[in-house]
Amino acid sequence: MRVPELRIGILLKARTFLSVASGREGFPADAVLYRKHQRDGKAIPCIPGSTVKGVLRKSAAKVAHLLGLTSCRSVRPEREFTCMGAQSREGGPCDVHKVFGAPGHPGRSRSCVEVTHFLPVAGPDEGRKWFESGEFWRSPVRPSAEPRPLSITRVGISDRAGVASPGLLYTYEQLPIGTMFYGEVAIRARDAELRKKALKLVLAALANLRLDRLGRAGIADVMVLEISEELRSLAEEDPDCRLLLRGLEEGWWS
Ligand SMILES: [Zn+2]
Repeated sequence: MRVPELRIGILLKARTFLSVASGREGFPADAVLYRKHQRDGKAIPCIPGSTVKGVLRKSAAKVAHLLGLTSCRSVRPEREFTCMGAQSREGGPCDVHKVFGAPGHPGRSRSCVEVTHFLPVAGPDEGRKWFESGEFWRSPVRPSAEPRPLSITRVGISDRAGVASPGLLYTYEQLPIGTMFYGEVAIRARDAELRKKALKLVLAALANLRLDRLGRAGIADVMVLEISEELRSLAEEDPDCRLLLRGLEEGWWS
């Protein structure tokens, strides 16, 4: 895949324990990570790009109105509950749907936002190197960090008897606080107006995400590590984007 022109290199830092999916369907409920198998047979924890994109989309829907952009604020993805549905066709899709696309309706509205998987890195410097290489958009990458998950074993208690239920002993894994993940977000849109809207929504969504939830219980801090020259010049054209970018680049951690 060609490396996109408008791209942002992002570092996520876990502020709480993050759960790794055990492979058991739907458990634990707040898992945002799964194990991605590498060519060498090892499995590293990974936050799927689709998960990050979903989080960004929700975040964008919350703040769109602050930027003079529209959001139908639908919490249901099905077409009939959103601006894509028949009842609300007069106005056409809202800005959030135009930018992020409509899940399940690729023909009607393609997304302008693309997100890579987020993989563990040793620190910001490693993230910057990945940005420079553009490799996250090409082949499967192999970052250097190998975070050690902690295994946690819990016992299910039967409500009725108040004792441990047989068969309800379970183990799951959590990544330690401070684990860092690197990944990239890109904007691809032919239409110049749409490109500007997409940039504004993505930057605002990232700013709003700061210390927001990742999964039901996990919290991660967000920092913009690098941006492409093309993205910087686009951001310079708009006062809101300029301000948002400045805040995101300075970061909020010490
Ligand atoms: Zn909408």
